[in-house]
Amino acid sequence: MKSSSDVASRTVRLLDSIHGLALDQRTEGRQSLGANPSRGKIISYRWISQCCSIVLSLLAVPACALEVAIDVGHGINDSGAISARGRSEFSFNQALAPVLQKALEGRGIGVRPVNFDGRIANLRARPAAAAGADFFISLHHDSLNASELEIWAWEGQTLTYSDRYAGYSLYVSQDNPDRSTSERCASAIGAMMRRAGFVPTRHHYPKRAWADETNAVHYYDNLVVLYRTTLPAVLFEAGVIKHRDEELLLQDPERMARMADAIATGIAACLYSGR
Ligand SMILES: [Zn+2]
Repeated sequence: MKSSSDVASRTVRLLDSIHGLALDQRTEGRQSLGANPSRGKIISYRWISQCCSIVLSLLAVPACALEVAIDVGHGINDSGAISARGRSEFSFNQALAPVLQKALEGRGIGVRPVNFDGRIANLRARPAAAAGADFFISLHHDSLNASELEIWAWEGQTLTYSDRYAGYSLYVSQDNPDRSTSERCASAIGAMMRRAGFVPTRHHYPKRAWADETNAVHYYDNLVVLYRTTLPAVLFEAGVIKHRDEELLLQDPERMARMADAIATGIAACLYSGR
């Protein structure tokens, strides 16, 4: 992330170069207009003013940098669901978090890592660790009810799976203090995921009501990480790790980067448009 001094020195360099170009233009104006040098000055000042407004509007993004708290769902002591091949949900969440961090930072958005080491056991400590950031996203991977699972053997282990459902989904809480931004950002993330070719899962409906059916956003009001917070918050389920094919896809680095890119684009679009 760029520091404010980097931004300031970049501003000075850009304004210097514009000033230099403007001086050239003013000289040119005098030469070409000959009898009316004052007209050259008017053209130059208008040109400076236009350039400055363009530069300042470009610089406004890093100068007002946003910060997103990324929460790695579950942890060392509560590792969440177990995939069809026996990998913990926590390890899927932990692998996706730095990929999303990179995608956000590539857009000039700062990241506050929450529970990247898996040591936060208390759910309420997660939103507390995010206080002061602009947005909170909790990363998870989806599972299914025990009644929907079948048994299979994988590398000598007896495990459970279901190939019935696959895809991403999102959750927001109606009790979040900034419900409208939470819903807007969840929809933006879901929309960017679809645009990037990811398919949502719809198996949580009707148990979880739709906040935005098209983009697979549900209400889940009493999730601690979503309502025990002071900032807009979304819980993201990247895919179903009980699905044997999707489990493998969710570990593909190229696909993970594409997913992170879609999430980051959605967050950036939502937060910058709300400013
Ligand atoms: Zn989870």
